[in-house]
Amino acid sequence: MTIQEAQKQVDNWIKEYGVRYFDIKTNMIVLTEEVGEMAKVIARKYGEQSAKPGDKLNLEEEIADVLWVLLCIANQTDIDLTEALKKNLEKKTKRDNTRHINNSKLK
Ligand SMILES: [Mg+2]
Repeated sequence: MTIQEAQKQVDNWIKEYGVRYFDIKTNMIVLTEEVGEMAKVIARKYGEQSAKPGDKLNLEEEIADVLWVLLCIANQTDIDLTEALKKNLEKKTKRDNTRHINNSKLK
């Protein structure tokens, strides 16, 4: 699935099952919730926090939840994420093309 197809599939789902997009401020809050759920999994699975009984530690699911809300926000603000990611890669390449290579902390 391309990023463009993902944006379209999410849009189709919202139209078919979601009634409408939550307003953008609500979606920003939902995104924050989902990032928190992702952080919880990482803290327990890869970090030093222990899991509680019943904790469901599914990183794949939480990353997909984060991506879902990002796709919603992009759709409702008319952002083409394929183009946005291309521009972002160009920006990072221009700005950081020697930054990490010269970072002694990474060696
Ligand atoms: Mg979640």
